[in-house]
Amino acid sequence: MTDLTKLSAAALADLLAAGEVSSVDATRAHLDRIDDTDGDIHAFLHVNGGALDVAADIDRRRAAGDPLGPLAGVPLAIKDVLVTTDMPSTSGSRILEGYMSPYDATVVARARAAGLVPLGKTNMDEFAMGSSTEHSAYGPTRNPWDLDRIPGGSGGGSAAAVAALQAPLALGSDTGGSIRQPAHVTGTVGLKPTYGGVSRYGAIALASSLDQVGPVTRTVLDAGLLHDVIGGHDPHDSTSLPDEWPSFAAAAREGASGDVLRGLKVGVIRELGDDGFQAGVTASFRAALATLEAHGAEIVEVSAPHFEYGVAAYYLILPAEASSNLAKFDSVRFGLRVDVSGGTVEDVMAATREAGFGDEVKRRIILGTYALSAGYYDAYYGSAQKVRTLIQRDFDEAFARVDVIATPSAPTTAFRLGEQLDDPMQMYLNDVTTIPANLAGVPGISIPSGLADEDGLPVGIQFLAPAREDARLYRVGAALEALLVDEWGGPLLDRAPVRGGGR
Ligand code: GLN
Repeated sequence: MTDLTKLSAAALADLLAAGEVSSVDATRAHLDRIDDTDGDIHAFLHVNGGALDVAADIDRRRAAGDPLGPLAGVPLAIKDVLVTTDMPSTSGSRILEGYMSPYDATVVARARAAGLVPLGKTNMDEFAMGSSTEHSAYGPTRNPWDLDRIPGGSGGGSAAAVAALQAPLALGSDTGGSIRQPAHVTGTVGLKPTYGGVSRYGAIALASSLDQVGPVTRTVLDAGLLHDVIGGHDPHDSTSLPDEWPSFAAAAREGASGDVLRGLKVGVIRELGDDGFQAGVTASFRAALATLEAHGAEIVEVSAPHFEYGVAAYYLILPAEASSNLAKFDSVRFGLRVDVSGGTVEDVMAATREAGFGDEVKRRIILGTYALSAGYYDAYYGSAQKVRTLIQRDFDEAFARVDVIATPSAPTTAFRLGEQLDDPMQMYLNDVTTIPANLAGVPGISIPSGLADEDGLPVGIQFLAPAREDARLYRVGAALEALLVDEWGGPLLDRAPVRGGGR
């Protein structure tokens, strides 16, 4: 029998629909894989004890001839930032250890309604703050390509799970790059939707004006299939767009088969340069551009002079919003409470937050409250908001000239665990190319572009499109993916050491 964990979600869904495999078999194969590999990788914080029951129910419904969605019976890993009624939701923090939500996040509810089988909750940097998953209160996740290296962050668990064949599909969240940068360092596909395109209801908020939930997968088509399930208007989220969205799976199929690259204008940002980018990352990016060009795309230099100030603006706006969002962890309403005998309410609150929050979270709360304090507001938060507007204008002007913008998805390949942990500035710079999309609310996708010569580790290329043009990213992403997989003679992930099942 084929190894069910090696199949794409689309291929597995076809076998399920044809009745050639059961969801119970598919789910058991992934649970076994988690059992075999997660001691090393630690992608999961919680494995769903009810997964096989859910799968059996889908199998029963299929046998009874119930109408089922295209992904019914396919297993799904869920980033622990998304609340679930049947599994704890910790957002990687000690302060929420064991927390059970009374409701499901909208994306989780939609995934369940579509018949997807929740496998468990994946590890992440605490409250989604980080680029390495080392800020998780529950210990780091390791990169399946090299266990001494980070899987990216904050959604390193979801990316590692998908790369290590523990799950064909995963959900992530992206506030400044936490879907796309982990995709880059693990050789997987990740897409941050247009702001408002996917519901944030039940996504534990980091920075509400930047957060978006999105798919983490091994192929562009799989991302489109999952996006079709989770996306669309949600009355529970006041920032959710009322739009009717096209099928993203259909867009991906069109991209893979059609001629979408002919005449496509691909913008490259002049001001970004090569400085600060690992040589192998730049080389892989250039080679991908050459492939696009060879198939009829036109590479156009565009100017986005404020792009490089994105990180600075982000690290004022994000902490400001985060400090406010995290004020709800007050020892009364959620999770942890540290009792202080004879202490006041304030003493209990302070002791709880001292014990429950990690260093990075505390650092950002201090930054955020400072940036928002009277007398500094205009100098910091106000200025950052102005830079945000300038970045949005840069995008508007660039997209008047090109269909998509391309950048490397991150400056380097996966770094070693511990390498950047004591250097927050260095850690923050990992998101230099992903952050601008969050500030502008536009969609972005990262797909594998190859392996860096110097270390043999995966590199991703990012495409950005105007707001609401997520379908364009699926078309272009799938087109390039098809060409590259052809060039490589098979998916990049086939070369990941952990794929051999040796561990
Ligand atoms: N690495 C970025 C940060 O630490 C992005 C986080 C995210 O997208 N959730 O804020």
